[in-house]
Amino acid sequence: MSDCIFCKIARGEIPCRKVYEDDDVLAFHDIHPAAPVHFMLVPKLHIASLMQAEEAHAALLGKMLLLAPKLAKEQGLDNGFRTVINTGKGGGQEVFHLHIHVIGGGSLPPM
Ligand code: IMP
Repeated sequence: MSDCIFCKIARGEIPCRKVYEDDDVLAFHDIHPAAPVHFMLVPKLHIASLMQAEEAHAALLGKMLLLAPKLAKEQGLDNGFRTVINTGKGGGQEVFHLHIHVIGGGSLPPM
């Protein structure tokens, strides 16, 4: 999507603090971190939210989930981390391009 901010980041049109990139996925630090380490995993394919995810996206979503602990460890989160996927306005989603928040490095409040 041409006006989606995460699509623009994925295309290199807006700078980011990159954590990881391959053909399918980009990970970058959140501009307003909620903890000492806070980055997001984003598919390069525009999927607006988890509500728009389909069977055809299963491998991509699985890849993102499996990348989360690997990248978290690389960012020093040896003791654990939190993953969050805000979905839809009711779920607090602000950027309508599917993303997994990976958060850690401090004491997180219980959910
Ligand atoms: P959501 O509420 O799950 O949609 O979270 C969107 C996140 O994107 C928020 O935590 C924002 O701080 C973050 N964000 C928005 N714009 C940018 C940016 O340009 N670079 C990095 N993070 C961003």
